[in-house]
Amino acid sequence: YVDSSQKIDYVFKVVLIGDSAVGKSQILARFARDEFSLDSKATIGVEFQTRTLSIEHKSVKAQIWDTAGQERYRAVTSAYYRGAVGAMLVYDITKRQTFDHIPRWLEELRGHADKNIVIILLGNKNDLEDQRAVPADDAKEFAQKEGLFFLETSALQSKNVEDAFMTVLTGIFNIVN
Ligand code: GDP
Ligand code: MG
Repeated sequence: YVDSSQKIDYVFKVVLIGDSAVGKSQILARFARDEFSLDSKATIGVEFQTRTLSIEHKSVKAQIWDTAGQERYRAVTSAYYRGAVGAMLVYDITKRQTFDHIPRWLEELRGHADKNIVIILLGNKNDLEDQRAVPADDAKEFAQKEGLFFLETSALQSKNVEDAFMTVLTGIFNIVN
């Protein structure tokens, strides 16, 4: 628990990227407000949400940026990536194409972001096991090869969402400390 009047020791900008409809906005809603919506509209308006948490007795404000419907290839602007120290690369485990596009997103991210950026690959919607189109081992292998963290998540069931953010934020924290 972090008192809102407490001083902030760090602000970490983290960007969410990946194809449309993979669940980026719901992952963020789960993390920032512990909310989920089954009929979430394409993201409009708000650029980022924040949540302040404590890591090793320091208060860290996570500033999480969500694409505002810019998920077409190369439509995400460089301003979006500017200053990002963490990234969550999201695909949908039930849609093979969203995983096949991950190398593109990674290339774009690496072209724009800081070289020390901490990246996690997230296979979201893992509550839909019966519709799985991407074996977890394929993603794990890709993540290992590229030096990314990897987790499967469910924003719906609130599974691994907290862990995913803590992995990235702690990874960043360990770099700056
Ligand atoms: P975005 O375009 O990547 O921001 O995707 P959204 O967050 O808007 O989610 C797209 C759709 O997938 C919405 O209907 C969500 O309710 C649904 N969705 C998001 N996360 C999950 C999840 O973990 N499990 C399931 N079953 N559906 C999800
Ligand atoms: Mg969205």
